[in-house]
Amino acid sequence: MSATIIDGKAYAESLADRIAAAVPAFKARTGRAPGLAVVLVGSDPASEIYVRNKGRKTVELGMTSFEHILPATIRQEELLNIVAALNANDLVDGILVQLPLPGHLDELAIVAAIDPAKDVDGLHPQSAGRLAAGIAGPVSCTPLGCLMLLKNELGDLSGLDAIVVGRSILVGKPMAQLLLNANCTVTIAHSRTRNLSEKVRLADIVVAASGQAEMIKGDWIKPGAAVIDVGTTRVIRDGKRKLLGDVDFDSAVTIAGAITPVPGGVGPMTIMTLMHNTLVIAHHRSALPVPPLW
Ligand code: NDP
Repeated sequence: MSATIIDGKAYAESLADRIAAAVPAFKARTGRAPGLAVVLVGSDPASEIYVRNKGRKTVELGMTSFEHILPATIRQEELLNIVAALNANDLVDGILVQLPLPGHLDELAIVAAIDPAKDVDGLHPQSAGRLAAGIAGPVSCTPLGCLMLLKNELGDLSGLDAIVVGRSILVGKPMAQLLLNANCTVTIAHSRTRNLSEKVRLADIVVAASGQAEMIKGDWIKPGAAVIDVGTTRVIRDGKRKLLGDVDFDSAVTIAGAITPVPGGVGPMTIMTLMHNTLVIAHHRSALPVPPLW
C-alpha cells in the first residue's frame, strides 16, 4: 500500500486563486490594496531569495509589497524606529521581520515592537496568547499551512491523536495549539522526549518539525496515519544538493495513509499562508468581514 501524497504546491496554488479573487473586492471597498511589509537585516543569500519571493508573490496577487533590506550592522534603535514607522503606516497591514536576526539585535524585543494587529507571522507574544486562549488572531504561517493541508485531507480532526515533534515558538508550539483547538489529543515531543518512536506509533497525525533529517522511520508510523513533514535540511548526497525532511519518506510512504513530500509539501504553503494572513489582517483592520478562503 502506498500513501496519498499531499500536494502542498497544488493546494497553495488553489489558495492563491482564492486570495487573488478576493483582493479586488477589498480594493473596491477601501480604495487601496492590502499591504505586506517584509524587513530583512543582513545579506544572507537564502533569506534574500525568500524575501524576494514573498515580494513577488504579494504583487502577483494584487497586493502592495514594502521591502526593507537593511545592513547587518543596523543598531537596535534604528530597527525599532523602522518597525514603529511601519506600525504607523496605514497602507501596511502585515509586518514580517525575517528571522533570525544578527546576534547583536534583541529578536524578542523587535518582534514585540510590531503592532499586534499587524503581526502577520503570529510571533508576537500577544498572538501566542490569543492562540492559547482560543481567541481568533494571527497564526504563524507554517503551522497554519499544515492545518490547512490536514483539514483538506482528513476533514474533521476531532478526537484524533496527534503528535508534534518539535516545540519551537515558530512551528511546534503553535502547531500543537492549532491541533488542540481542532479537538485533537496532542502530544508535544522534543529533544528530551523518551521513547519517541513509541509515541509517534500511537498517533493518527504526525507533524514532524525537528530539523533532524530522516529521523522518523516508516516503522515508527501507525498504519494509515497522516504525516506532515515540516523539516528541511540541506545535504549533499551522491554529489547532488538535496532537501531532506524529518521523515524517511521512502519507508514512511508505504505505511502512512497520507504524507507530504519534501520539497513540495509544507514549503509552498508557508508563503501562501503569509499572503492569506495579510489579506485577513487587512480585512480586520478595515472592519470588513473576511471572505471564506479555506
Ligand atoms: P528549531 O530548531 O527552533 O526547533 C526544533 C525543535 O525540534 C526543538 O523543539 C527541538 O527540541 C526538537 N528536536 C530537535 N532534535 C530532536 C530529536 N532528536 N527528537 C525530538 N525532537 C527534537 O526549528 P524550527 O521549529 O524553526 O524548524 C523545524 C524544522 O522545520 C527545520 O528543519 C526548519 O528548517 C523547518 N521549517 C520549515 C518551514 C517550511 O516552510 N517548510 C518553515 C519553518 C521551519 P528542544 O526544544 O528540546 O531543543
